Amino acid sequence: MKHCPICDRTSDRFAFFGEICEVCAGKKLAEKLPNEVRVPLCRDCGRIRVAGVFVEPGKASMQRLLSGSMRRYRVKLLDADREAARVSVTEEGTGQAIEHEVKLLFERTLCDDDSRKRAGYYEAVVQFRGDGSKVERAAAALQRYVERNGGFVTKTEQKQHGVDVYVSYKRIVRAFLEARHIKSESSFKLQGEKGGRRLYRNTYFVTLGYTPRRPGAQGPEPS
Ligand SMILES: [Zn+2]
Ligand SMILES: [Zn+2]
Repeated sequence: MKHCPICDRTSDRFAFFGEICEVCAGKKLAEKLPNEVRVPLCRDCGRIRVAGVFVEPGKASMQRLLSGSMRRYRVKLLDADREAARVSVTEEGTGQAIEHEVKLLFERTLCDDDSRKRAGYYEAVVQFRGDGSKVERAAAALQRYVERNGGFVTKTEQKQHGVDVYVSYKRIVRAFLEARHIKSESSFKLQGEKGGRRLYRNTYFVTLGYTPRRPGAQGPEPS
């Protein structure tokens, strides 16, 4: 029979890991684990940053974040609230497992998208013109599509014959127009340079229902 050198518990009543009892081994393991973990939280969209990427908060993302902060162990999230998480931690070599509580330190920050949004960032303007209800539907559909595809709408402006939608990323606008077979006239405006690359802001002019005159163009009013 073994006697734990730290607490004198005996192996007839407790499991042992090497020479020490499970209780003392558990305490030693707990000492190697973090007691708190930083959780960067976007103040605007509420997503949290896991491995450098902002993702929806939830059990799966919290599990990944905690695993990442205790890389040498197998970590399973048991439950979490706004303050702390309880995890079960298993040491790979010995197979020893303990339950451990980690304080969650939420740090309010801004994700890239939201800091760009706050700065009024946009790469493309879609000018919907024409029949009022068609314009409304198309603008709403574009907004939903942009948000589903990882972008954002910086602003929308009501115009006399339609609406201008300012969109974060032009690749999303192009994908939207392609997916819905919407024809557009596009123009490009040089905005500046970054890292030797020219940056253009694109304008897509879309007419729905009838053909009004293009903003700025000469000509009679559409009937
Ligand atoms: Zn002991
Ligand atoms: Zn955000």
